[in-house]
Amino acid sequence: MSSQPLSPNNFSDLFDSVEAFLFDCDGVIWKGDELIQGVPQTLQMLRSKGKKIVFVTNNSWKSRSQYAQKFQSLGISVSQDEIFSSSFAAAMYLKVKDFPSQNKVYVIGGEGILEELRLAGITAFGGPEDANKTIDLKQNCFVEHDKSVGAVVVGIDPNINYYKLQYGTLCIRENPGCLFIATNRDAVGHMTALQEWPGAGCMVAAICGSTQKEPVVVGKPSTFMMEFLLKKFNVSCSKMCMVGDRLDTDILFGQNAGCKTLLVLSGVTTQSDLQDPSNNIQPDYYTNKISDMLDLS
Ligand code: PLP
Ligand code: CA
Repeated sequence: MSSQPLSPNNFSDLFDSVEAFLFDCDGVIWKGDELIQGVPQTLQMLRSKGKKIVFVTNNSWKSRSQYAQKFQSLGISVSQDEIFSSSFAAAMYLKVKDFPSQNKVYVIGGEGILEELRLAGITAFGGPEDANKTIDLKQNCFVEHDKSVGAVVVGIDPNINYYKLQYGTLCIRENPGCLFIATNRDAVGHMTALQEWPGAGCMVAAICGSTQKEPVVVGKPSTFMMEFLLKKFNVSCSKMCMVGDRLDTDILFGQNAGCKTLLVLSGVTTQSDLQDPSNNIQPDYYTNKISDMLDLS
């Protein structure tokens, strides 16, 4: 069925049937580091009407506490418990899978992943500390890897290099049972507001290429994060609405779980992308930006 534009009539049905709104962040709340117009007032309106609010971002660069600071710096007050980042999802996945305490995790990604793993009591290394490692192939270089690495977590890493690729590849290929976990596979992301940049999908594809293995994806659209937050918030899927700007992550994430879905056109998807005959992901509703809800409420 094709999507409906949000209107006074269908908005009141949606609003009355939904207890929790799940908001994607980039393209919905902000673009890069710039707040999207009307967001604080919209969130305030939803809270004042008793709706639960959850933020779900695939960008693994930051931890939940770093995201809480970002929200605060943009003038939005949130609790850390309302934030689900793919960095946190990676740590929770390993916890749920009873990752052995004697094993370590190698990270191709940012400080956010390392912090979430540390908070979950998991020993992790790599990421920023390997940013300047160089490989001199003329010197018959040999990389020694830690045999106790039981998982490699790959997320967005603007400082990816050949050393990190070799280290992660060795762990996955040579350590028996070593897990390959991707925080997300977004093709591009707003590392800055002015431009889209290669996303974690690019780093993940590099390791798929060298290992010939496919990762477990813990971010959107995988259902792992949804199952986790459903338990935490004790809300049924049919009473949740996933609001996002990307069809193949956000809208699919909501649809996979049986949530209502609302696409906003304030991010990467245009109305013509939505209506393109090659697009087979149709949200229930679409609108320009979340603050349209203010006019409709
Ligand atoms: N990954 C990276 C590196 C990004 O920069 C972004 C957005 O800026 C995303 C993923 C997508 O984030 P979100 O799920 O909040 O849209
Ligand atoms: Ca987004």
